[in-house]
Amino acid sequence: MQDMQFIDGEYIPSASGKKIDVIDPSNGRVYHQVSAGNAEDIDKAVKAARAAFDDGPWRKMSGGERAAILRKMGDIINERVNELAELEVQNNGKPLPEAIWDIEDTAGCFHFYADLAEELDQDEGKNIPLSEPRFSSIAVREPVGVAGAIIPWNFPMLMAAWKVAPALAAGCSVVLKPSEVTPITALEYGVIAQQAGLPKGVLNVVTGLGPDAGQPLTDHPGVDKLAFTGSVPTGSKIMAAAARDIKAVSLELGGKSPLVIFEDTDIEAAVEWIMFGIFWNKGEVCSATSRVLIARSIYDKVLTRLIEEAQKVKIGHGMEKGVLLGPIVNKSQFEKIKAAIARGQEEGATLASGGKTPEGLEEGYYLEPTIFTDVPLDSWIWKEEIFGPVVCVRPFDGEEDAIRQANDSRYGLAAAVMSADLERANRVARAFRAGIVWVNCSQPTFTEAPWGGYKQSGIGRELGEWGLNNYLETKQITTFN
Ligand code: NAD
Repeated sequence: MQDMQFIDGEYIPSASGKKIDVIDPSNGRVYHQVSAGNAEDIDKAVKAARAAFDDGPWRKMSGGERAAILRKMGDIINERVNELAELEVQNNGKPLPEAIWDIEDTAGCFHFYADLAEELDQDEGKNIPLSEPRFSSIAVREPVGVAGAIIPWNFPMLMAAWKVAPALAAGCSVVLKPSEVTPITALEYGVIAQQAGLPKGVLNVVTGLGPDAGQPLTDHPGVDKLAFTGSVPTGSKIMAAAARDIKAVSLELGGKSPLVIFEDTDIEAAVEWIMFGIFWNKGEVCSATSRVLIARSIYDKVLTRLIEEAQKVKIGHGMEKGVLLGPIVNKSQFEKIKAAIARGQEEGATLASGGKTPEGLEEGYYLEPTIFTDVPLDSWIWKEEIFGPVVCVRPFDGEEDAIRQANDSRYGLAAAVMSADLERANRVARAFRAGIVWVNCSQPTFTEAPWGGYKQSGIGRELGEWGLNNYLETKQITTFN
């Protein structure tokens, strides 16, 4: 396990001389320490990234040459799937099969953007027809420069890949600031970069607390673009910092996503997707469908089956076979979720299932899958992101009511609808005010498809070609003929 910062191609200690504890959420014990990075470390990393961008070979390479290195990074990650997944389990708490998915997706993300980097070689500029025939004009795309990437703790290696892979494909250099809660796998990117032959300074990883390392990165004049995934309050600070010297900014923020289930939905399928939509990754998923709306005529049936299934969920250590729900990521998140559960009860909602730490799992941050019913529309638990295994369920009466309740949120990251009537499902899908919509499912995520939110869930899109565009500038070249 790495413990130092990765700057300018090597692991070096932090200028602060201080360390951050890394905690295993299954028992609350410190099992490792990493550098507590500060403004001086960030300055070093940004200068290395700047020099690599301005004077290094990376952005001058062809897309095909960059693709070869990105592909190698993906291959190395694939070769290390089990080991990296186990590191993720120990740091985040998620069950091993889910961690394996994450790491496989991470490798896939590098392979996908390798292909897009190659395609950039075919892009000779888009011809722009002009109203004045004596001039001709083309639009060409170029890397934006040094990207500062700040990520959360729920998918530590994957969230980094969503930013690092497209940025590198575009020809940018990167300073990555992982979450202080889960820095372990992000630090492995240094080794992976070295082994893949990424030129030094192109990718730098600085660990540290948000105010100590994140903020200096957002404030640094050497950064051209900020890419952030995390909470709305931090996103707001990052946008304010970006405004000071007009840095490009993309934000992937929180959500309180609805799942609407019409009366013609198969009950078992509905229960399966409700469960996956909120209990996958312990509900620590930005797009989790944490508000479930069920047609009144099937409400009782679905709820009864949902409670039965939720009570069957095996809770335990992420490495234990058959476990579906691991420990919450850390004490602070655990306390926040417990406070939200208490608040829901104070607000008059009915705690229909769960809400406690399971017996025998008092060590570590374990919580039962939790279901609230009779949730008032104006309650905090209905409106705000809990970011844990807590779902709020309400009935609805007709399509219009379902859409109204679903859209009544300051967030707009994701939304899902289930119905046997595909025409209706698609009509509702169009009516949702959300950037990601699932029909007859919840949560499947593809590297090829755009990811991002409406309203306070963010600005811009990651993944797919949209993710690459985040790291490209567009230049017009106009010639007088
Ligand atoms: P957070 O906002 O607390 O922290 C995210 C990152 O920002 C961390 O690396 C943190 O150190 C850093 N940070 C904190 N203060 C900072 C500052 N002042 N300046 C710069 N950086 C700072 O979020 P979190 O608790 O780690 O993650 C949970 C949140 O992330 C949830 O709201 C969730 O919905 C969101 N999220 C969104 C997506 C998405 O794609 N939309 C994906 C995953 C998580």
